[in-house]
Amino acid sequence: MQLTNSYAALPERFYQRVRPTPVREPRLLLFNRGLADELGFDPALVEQPERLAAYLGGNETLPGSEPLATAYAGHQFGGFSPQLGDGRAHLLGELTGRDDVPRELQLKGSGRTAFSRGGDGRCALGPAVREFVMAEAMHALGVRTTRSLAVVTTGESVRRETPLPGAVVTRVARSHLRVGTFQYFAVRGDTAGLKALSDYAIERLYPALRERPEGPERYLGLLEAVIAAQVELVTDWMRVGFIHGVMNTDNTTISGETIDFGPCAMMSAYDPATVFSSIDRGGRYAYGNQPGIIAWNMARLAETLLPLIDEDEQRALKRAQACISTVPHLLDDAWQTMMVGKLGLPNADADEDRALLAALLKQLHEGRLDYTITFDRLTESLAAGARAENEDEDELEGIDRGWIERWRRRLATHDVTDEAARAAMRTRNPVVIPRNHHVEAILTITAETLDPSYAEGFLEVLRTPYERRPGTEKFTDAPADGDEHYVTFCGT
Ligand code: AMP
Ligand code: MG
Repeated sequence: MQLTNSYAALPERFYQRVRPTPVREPRLLLFNRGLADELGFDPALVEQPERLAAYLGGNETLPGSEPLATAYAGHQFGGFSPQLGDGRAHLLGELTGRDDVPRELQLKGSGRTAFSRGGDGRCALGPAVREFVMAEAMHALGVRTTRSLAVVTTGESVRRETPLPGAVVTRVARSHLRVGTFQYFAVRGDTAGLKALSDYAIERLYPALRERPEGPERYLGLLEAVIAAQVELVTDWMRVGFIHGVMNTDNTTISGETIDFGPCAMMSAYDPATVFSSIDRGGRYAYGNQPGIIAWNMARLAETLLPLIDEDEQRALKRAQACISTVPHLLDDAWQTMMVGKLGLPNADADEDRALLAALLKQLHEGRLDYTITFDRLTESLAAGARAENEDEDELEGIDRGWIERWRRRLATHDVTDEAARAAMRTRNPVVIPRNHHVEAILTITAETLDPSYAEGFLEVLRTPYERRPGTEKFTDAPADGDEHYVTFCGT
């Protein structure tokens, strides 16, 4: 097992070579054996928790690893910071796993770097466990995301408002490149850096683009590929009710993976204006704003690529704008198709299907109905025998009978049988999601006991989110207040 370091082959100004700061008492708390296996981890090493803790707590260097902290910039809540960078993270290198795809290993909470500014470079245990649980839950839900390999406790405390136990989380990603990485070079007028970065992104993430002649078509292709990946990603977030919470350009990946599970949360009662993050006072990153924000972030990416699209700025702008102007339509089409898909309908071409969806969402919103439970119940209402059972009710879990009849007529119009609709809906509507009150309870008890079994039990259920299994029902309940008063805090 030998790490490779493709990022370290980029020019020195892309990063700082820096080793993690050792921790006092590294102890392996959570370890993702399935992922370790996919990554081709040495089976002997997997059986040695002390060695894993030493490597993944940052005290020892994994074979082949050349640790570094990457430079990036970013728009945070709309304001631009020309220099952010990995202030508490170390890229260890890549492992090429069973599927032949190289994946980056990164430690987070592993000590200060040149990019730490005032920060301590550390991470508290609660946010580390949140990252671990949420990333794996999202992966199981079928959403593009970074993964989590491990949480190591440090035996040190971190100073936040109060002292908290410290931890290092190991994150695994196709790539940690962000829109903000491109902004870092663009704002410095470093076109050579930008080109090296773009070529690297194409090679690592979108190699098919290398078939195109070097020049505008290739770099426009990169922009289009990132847009396509992000449209798919945000549409999936909308599908499962995920609210990222900090969709800054430094938290928007080039690979289209979900990254940074700081103040993220799941929507309970359906309301597009749902915001949980204490730092998002204006509601910029509310559930329903996420498509609009990703369109904005893609425009920021397009701006950085202008010098590679055409030497003539006006011509470059024209081509980039033509590409960016498609994004709202791509997002709307993807969203409509996804949402009618949650109703078992094949596509969103028909006005009648779009109207049906709008009527449902109005009832969900006005009734403050739980998003996940409602779609789960609609799915199960098509099960053999279930229809007869609820035929005489004048509503189904808060949805009025008139709407239900209308929905069934639309299924019939499309020649979709109940069984086919239910099967399709079952792949799109989860039974169980990482609900905020359960996540909080797990974080609290894990920090108090340092016992991994609570988080592991929760994850076991979350790994099959579209199935009812023994134990699933423990985690499916909606919070009493629809999470009206739930607040998340930035992990920093
Ligand atoms: P985030 O909000 O986690 O996306 O982080 C935004 C920026 O702040 C990144 O440059 C991080 O590296 C940096 N940062 C966050 N927390 C810390 C910390 N505890 N120490 C140093 N840098 C940090
Ligand atoms: Mg970040």
